[in-house]
Amino acid sequence: MLNLVIFGPPGAGKGTQADLIAQKLNLIHLSSGELLRQELANGELGQEIQKYQDAGELVPDSLVVRLIENAITKNLDRAGFIFDGYPRNLNQANSLDKFLAAQGLKLDLVLNLELDEQDAIDRIILRSQTSGRSDDNAQTIGKRFQTYQTQTLPILDYYQNHGVLTNIDGRPSIAEVNSQILKILAE
Ligand code: ADP
Repeated sequence: MLNLVIFGPPGAGKGTQADLIAQKLNLIHLSSGELLRQELANGELGQEIQKYQDAGELVPDSLVVRLIENAITKNLDRAGFIFDGYPRNLNQANSLDKFLAAQGLKLDLVLNLELDEQDAIDRIILRSQTSGRSDDNAQTIGKRFQTYQTQTLPILDYYQNHGVLTNIDGRPSIAEVNSQILKILAE
């Protein structure tokens, strides 16, 4: 199995690149944001999720961890996973390592897509014209970045210490970033 995390600020291109890598390597693309948006349809729980998403805050770990673990369990016969938007804080990172270890698995590589805040915001604003996402508005975007800085960025040290971190320039075109990632994975 090959298990990857794609990491980076909102708007860095995680979902786009994760799709391309998953196709190429036959991995399961697990996006926590997508899993949560699918849950939105489910009555009360959905309203709760949307409140957090629209505020640019993290949805409680208990819920996200359960969604991810269910999705992993369903796909253990596959070639591997690419996690997108997960983990998003240290508790999630620890819990993912533990859960994988319990299945005899581990994370092989964390791909950190680097993009500065202004470039990322420009991309999200552009995407907002077609995404239909209620959290792609200026106010929520600001809060999402704040959440990223305070809760998500600290994970990088954790992965650096585990020797699985690799940095990728997120500024070039989709195709260029993709070929950079495939080059790293081939090594
Ligand atoms: P982006 O990476 O562009 O911000 P996502 O679709 O990954 O978009 O996430 C959208 C929202 O979903 C987040 O702002 C947050 O509210 C929620 N979310 C996604 N992943 C997680 C997670 N791992 N833990 C908690 N909340 C999450």
